Amino acid sequence: NVSPEILPRLIQAVADTIEKNAEEVTQLDQAIGDGDHVVNLQRGIHALQAQSAEIAQTDWVGALQKIGMTLMSTVGGASGSLYGTLFVAMSKSLRDKPVDRQRFADAFAQGVESVKLRGRADAGEKTMLDVLIPAAQSLQKSAAASEGLKESLAEIVRTAEAGVEATRNMLATKGRASFLGERTLGHLDAGAKTAQLMISAIAEALA
Ligand code: ADP
Ligand code: MG
Ligand code: MG
Repeated sequence: NVSPEILPRLIQAVADTIEKNAEEVTQLDQAIGDGDHVVNLQRGIHALQAQSAEIAQTDWVGALQKIGMTLMSTVGGASGSLYGTLFVAMSKSLRDKPVDRQRFADAFAQGVESVKLRGRADAGEKTMLDVLIPAAQSLQKSAAASEGLKESLAEIVRTAEAGVEATRNMLATKGRASFLGERTLGHLDAGAKTAQLMISAIAEALA
């Protein structure tokens, strides 16, 4: 079973993919938002990199809690409190439980539920949830079926890609983009894009 010692590598993988795709994502947030999404995320990622040794030495409950609190206090924007909520809720869900694949999948699903509550949003509103919700379902499905790790990672990557692509033809009804109404049609959501990039980078680092 995987311990939090893997987290510095995963944080680095996330940092790399956001860096590599910074321009594209910034353009997405400029088109239907305020253009700061990458800068917001990078503030959080840099803070996590600075804490990475410490995070690696705790247990999952402590590590996820710390990640969530750090993201909440550094990222800012709508995405900061939402990602903070995701990790804090995952930590809560794993409290007093041994961590295995099924519990981790359940914790992620619980985290995504908390993001829905926090943002008063659901699938189909052109947000990060259009990637996070299907990703959580994919994780739970492959954990329940005891699917091979490689196959389940490939599946979550495909699911996340389909999720971000689906936001293109959605009307934004939450967040800043919602102010633009129909003008959001035809654009991918920036937060869905970074959720997909991060999930894919993590899955590739674990494969
Ligand atoms: P801000 O919009 O405050 O500038 P960011 O640019 O960092 O914050 O993040 C914007 C992203 O946050 C959006 O692209 C969308 O995916 C996500 N988002 C915004 N509002 C919500 C919400 N209520 N629920 C879920 N996700 C949201
Ligand atoms: Mg923004
Ligand atoms: Mg902003």
